[in-house]
Amino acid sequence: MSKAHFGLIGLGVMGENLVLNAERNGFSSVVYNRTFAKTEEFLNGRAKGKNIEGAIDLKEFVEKLDRPRRILMMVKAGNPIDAVIKQISPYLEQGDLLIDGGNSLYSDTERRVSELEKQSFGYIGMGVSGGAKGAYEGPSMMPGGTRSSYDQIESLLQKMAAQVDDGPCVTYIGPGGSGHFVKTVHNGIEYGIEQILSEAYDLMKRGSGDSCKEIAELFAYWNSTEELSSYLVEITQQCLLTKDPLDNTDLVENIMDKAGQKGTGLWTVVSALKLGAAVPTIYASLNARVLSSMKSNRIRAEKILSNPKDGNLEFFKDSQFREYLTDAVVLSTISSYAQGIDILQLASKEHNYDLNMQSIAQIWKGGCIIRSTLLKRIQEAYNNNGSLISLLLDPWFSAQINRRLKGLSLIVSNAALAGIPVPCLSSTLDYLNSYRTSRLPQNLVQAMRDCFGSHGYERLDKEGSFHTDWID
Ligand code: NAP
Repeated sequence: MSKAHFGLIGLGVMGENLVLNAERNGFSSVVYNRTFAKTEEFLNGRAKGKNIEGAIDLKEFVEKLDRPRRILMMVKAGNPIDAVIKQISPYLEQGDLLIDGGNSLYSDTERRVSELEKQSFGYIGMGVSGGAKGAYEGPSMMPGGTRSSYDQIESLLQKMAAQVDDGPCVTYIGPGGSGHFVKTVHNGIEYGIEQILSEAYDLMKRGSGDSCKEIAELFAYWNSTEELSSYLVEITQQCLLTKDPLDNTDLVENIMDKAGQKGTGLWTVVSALKLGAAVPTIYASLNARVLSSMKSNRIRAEKILSNPKDGNLEFFKDSQFREYLTDAVVLSTISSYAQGIDILQLASKEHNYDLNMQSIAQIWKGGCIIRSTLLKRIQEAYNNNGSLISLLLDPWFSAQINRRLKGLSLIVSNAALAGIPVPCLSSTLDYLNSYRTSRLPQNLVQAMRDCFGSHGYERLDKEGSFHTDWID
């Protein structure tokens, strides 16, 4: 019996769909799952009649694969990945390739690439985005590791990936943990956009008093515009229109307002702070999730802390409110991407990843959760100017900012007066106002630091470091 082209470990939501995708594209496959009952269920269910076999243990799994073996691990990130590597290594032979397609911490991937290559195995750390549907139909994939290892799987990945007008949504990202780093930042941008859209919904609901159906209409309009057409806007509209099967009311209104997180948003912000990237919009989205999780505290606080609003919600009922809201959402979304790209550019220098922003924008245009028409503009921006210092300074994006900043300011100021929190929108406003200001008040911060700690300061008019005895 001929051996299979492709092996998959981990029949979770992603693994099942990815192996069906590979098989549909002509790669006969073998699957292994720690709990064999799940393998049996899969083989007798979705994999029935397909060119997919199962293995009861890792020895049998490895033996059923053609050499050099190409094995994708889709198991929980962290210790389970190390456990699987340890269990499978004794059966692998020189040149075999392991691919970690989960959401692993990039520094873990750096370590694993180096450890596995010492044993003459290949190792690729690959971010995969698109959820279950994307995994089946074609995800966006961000593989990092040694170039020669990537070359072994390029044709497989190119067939499995989502396809857009200028090619498949996969490219070699760079060495070491770069693929997982880029996926982490992708998720950070995703956190930002999800929170931005939720704030827009809240302003329409609490400010204007709109129904879910009315709010969904604006999302449908946004999804028809170049600036906001995106997967997240599209699914938000669908979520808002979905009825609760229990009582036919709007399902979103029956969902607990506590947002979960699995780590990638936190890793994005920690990496940004370590690298010296300013990411206020993304950071605000993470804080918003943390605050949302304190539900019982918020219930108590609502009874004690009053809303300073003056009771005037006229702004939210004005015919221009939706235009201003569009401005706010467009600029916040642009800022989320711009901040993510800033992290990638700093990481590229710090870790010698040699990331190509134009290619990263290209592979995010299809399959992934942050796919949007804006990415075409982002791709063009870095195509036109590979050394662009910030997306905000590209002519098309700067024109958007100059045109829409007033709308964002009106939304944030009126939300503040109404007592409606808009952490991402307000952080974006401060981000843009800070970024476009050549003289910030940090001269005074420097004076204080020198006053209490003799940290020294630079002057505007002379080179060098200076110190003053501020207090007699
Ligand atoms: P998951 O729930 O994260 O993982 C389930 C799989 O991991 C199961 O096959 C499970 O086997 C296996 N597993 C857990 N601990 C193990 C261990 N110690 N040894 C061996 N196998 C172990 O499933 P998922 O949602 O498909 O995610 C897989 C990876 O992709 C994760 O890193 C996730 O963060 C990432 N990811 C998920 C999505 C998504 O939308 N779900 C999107 C992109 C990336 P058993 O059946 O035996 O428990």
